[in-house]
Amino acid sequence: MTSVSLQNLSVTYASSIPVLQDVSLTVGQGELMVLLGPSGSGKTTILRAIAGLLQPNEGDIHFDQRSILNVPPERRGAVMVFQEHALFPFMDVGANVAFGLKMRRMDAGTIRAKVAQALAAVQLAGYESRRPDELSGGQRQRVALARALVIEPRVLLLDEPLSSLEPALREDLRATIRTLQQQAGITMIFVTHDQTDAVAVADRICLLMHGAVRQTGAPRSFFERPVDSEVARFFGGINFLPGIKRGRIVETDLGPLEVDDSERPDGDVLVTIRPEAVEVGKNGHNNLVGMVESYSFQGLVARCGAGISDTQLQLTVTPYQRFSRGEEILLHLPRERIHLLPIETGQ
Ligand code: ADP
Ligand code: MG
Repeated sequence: MTSVSLQNLSVTYASSIPVLQDVSLTVGQGELMVLLGPSGSGKTTILRAIAGLLQPNEGDIHFDQRSILNVPPERRGAVMVFQEHALFPFMDVGANVAFGLKMRRMDAGTIRAKVAQALAAVQLAGYESRRPDELSGGQRQRVALARALVIEPRVLLLDEPLSSLEPALREDLRATIRTLQQQAGITMIFVTHDQTDAVAVADRICLLMHGAVRQTGAPRSFFERPVDSEVARFFGGINFLPGIKRGRIVETDLGPLEVDDSERPDGDVLVTIRPEAVEVGKNGHNNLVGMVESYSFQGLVARCGAGISDTQLQLTVTPYQRFSRGEEILLHLPRERIHLLPIETGQ
């Protein structure tokens, strides 16, 4: 198994605007790292630099503590599966998967066995003689995955492998990728702009914005400990209010709130609590009385807006909890769910 380390990578295309700025990231042996970020944030550029399809302007890339910048792409052992699953349309599935092995001049018997094994791993056993145009989008994506896996790469780079698939197939292929990664112990870097995909497959997530790393950590940390309000918003955070922290109390427009968050120094802060964390009812501390201003049924959950003084808190409730506009609502903000962010200029 191989570890990958990006060290202060910077990339500038001809337009002279930097696309990657000082990106550092370590992916452990056999880890599944998700590179998450909005479109244009530089995700594909990072994969291309790792695969050797472009040379960074600054910085270094190590596989297992050794720089690979001077290793040609075909000898790096990093295989990239592209967003638009580029199968050879005129070759059947078997030939597509065998392609990389033929290039390596393996004997026909070994190739046949390895192809069958790779197809079985992506749940397409026996599909060797199908042509790509006889497959669904999800199946083509699985073939692309098998074609990459069969050459036993040190590092597998997946560029938005699920983005062209419908929800049920996405979930399916997500599970396949996760299983393969755990069974084979391959180091994987999985690129997506989709927060749901990221959370579902990742060991860790690296969030990129505007070509720079904003936060790296376990999926849960982005919900519970976002570094700033932009990160919190990217993960569905919606309640933000300025406050002044003094010890375990924060003064806000909602009144004084008890907090647990002791990492942040006293003074100006931005208070945030996720809509799922706001509870209905009375309970110990941080009890508020609000007025229901909006309510929308969303299927799996319902979203409610509660006005308190001049602010509004958004909360997620179960679809069975119904509220009408104008109704009084009692709210509880559990102090361990309140997270304090640095105050931002312009807030
Ligand atoms: P992502 O994969 O996150 O959507 P990319 O890495 O593809 O982002 O692109 C990051 C930025 O670099 C974008 O602004 C894009 O327009 C620009 N870019 C990508 N490829 C090139 C290129 N070959 N020449 C010039 N600019 C490019
Ligand atoms: Mg991209």
